[in-house]
Amino acid sequence: MKVYNTLSKRKEEFTPLEEGKVKMYVCGPTVYNLIHIGNARPMIVFDTVRRYLEYRGYQVDYVSNFTDVDDKIIAKAMEEGVDAEVISQRYMQECKKDMEEMNVKPATVHPLATQEIDGMIEMIQTLVDKGFAYAAADGTVYFRVKKFPEYGKLSHKNLDDLQSGFRSLQVSGAGQKEDPLDFVLWKPKKEGEPSWPSPWCDGRPGWHIECSVMAKKYLGDEIDIHAGGEDLIFPHHENEIAQSECCNGKIFSRYWMHNAFLNIDNRKMSKSLGNFFTVREVGEEYDLQTLRFFMLSAHYRSPLNFSRELMTAAKNGLERIQTAAEHLRHVKDQGEGGPLTGEEEKLLEQANDFAAKFREAMEDDFNTADAIAAVFELVKFSNTHAKEGCTKAFGEKLYETMETLTDILGLQLEVKEEILDQEIERLIEKRQAARKAKDFQKADQIRDMLLEKGILLEDTREGVKWKRV
Ligand code: AMP
Ligand code: ZN
Repeated sequence: MKVYNTLSKRKEEFTPLEEGKVKMYVCGPTVYNLIHIGNARPMIVFDTVRRYLEYRGYQVDYVSNFTDVDDKIIAKAMEEGVDAEVISQRYMQECKKDMEEMNVKPATVHPLATQEIDGMIEMIQTLVDKGFAYAAADGTVYFRVKKFPEYGKLSHKNLDDLQSGFRSLQVSGAGQKEDPLDFVLWKPKKEGEPSWPSPWCDGRPGWHIECSVMAKKYLGDEIDIHAGGEDLIFPHHENEIAQSECCNGKIFSRYWMHNAFLNIDNRKMSKSLGNFFTVREVGEEYDLQTLRFFMLSAHYRSPLNFSRELMTAAKNGLERIQTAAEHLRHVKDQGEGGPLTGEEEKLLEQANDFAAKFREAMEDDFNTADAIAAVFELVKFSNTHAKEGCTKAFGEKLYETMETLTDILGLQLEVKEEILDQEIERLIEKRQAARKAKDFQKADQIRDMLLEKGILLEDTREGVKWKRV
């Protein structure tokens, strides 16, 4: 399996540190608002990487943080006159809802920055003790960039170039820094901001230190894959490398993966330009499965332009796959009994070729665009060959193949049918009537049908209660 590594700027053969296991860290969002569709790109892309690795038999430890202390969160909290925690908790819950709708699996661990302050103080202290960090008079702690000669290895920047670039800039804290390149590990508190005691001053951590600490705590000093959007390469990931490698004395991550940006009207999508959509807004118009399919229709390292036309194309494409799957379900249920015919066996070999093509695409740095093309070939094949007179077994095998592939992409083959409350109440009444008439078979049928639609019935003394599960 080949993975493009930002560190070497090449595709490299993937070899994990420990056979059969992958330790993966993905930088998560800062939770101060509903996530936008740009934030959704790394979530969907790296969830798909994880799913493929799991399909390949790896046990994946997947850690993704929520940044829940940050200037933007604090600003929003002040605007609303509430604690920062109220804001971060609210948007973290909303983010999890969006993730679920996009079929992004929950991480093995979703650590929160505010719950890991002790670990951050410990790491900063180690860096100070080793001479890689220093505290200024006001209690701000800086990382001493010049002490780490490998600084710049991820972003392929040269220390001298960086230096001259910085000289022409007015940098915050310039007066008390030993060097303009030095970055903040800990900063003193300001009035009304959340803060924690530390050996240097009451304050809060810099952004970069949180990921170094969470990766270390939940995955160890050395990890296999570290990922995020390409805007994080510099300075965030460069600084993470400096902190982790100087603290631990080991190579931090073997592979660094970065997704390209999602644009709107071929311009960078950003809040300041006002040209962004939240996942929630898009979800009002489209099923978020369509958004997922749209995101995977391009290679993750190619810029992707969001437009109505492309979303419509994605919607149609996904429907084509789902319709073929529905047809296969029909064949599976209504087909002839008995074993596969000789001809069907041969046909299934061809179908396996599409699955092989899919795998080949994914093995080549997770080329989901080509993988989707292979799914479409399978769809076309299935529409041609799965018809009247086929065996159930043939329908089952084809369906299984289709499901395996779409599951790797995190796409659901069955269209979720929303069942309305009114309809549920009506069916419950019907079930009660069936029970009264001692037609228990019918009553059970109704209960099972509701369960299939995600409605669980509970018979209580006060009557039948139901909930969505
Ligand atoms: P943030 O909350 O800004 O730290 O972003 C969370 C994640 O979303 C990071 O991995 C960013 O690189 C990524 N991201 C933000 N905007 C975009 C975008 N327009 N396209 C792709 N990824 C993005
Ligand atoms: Zn990070």
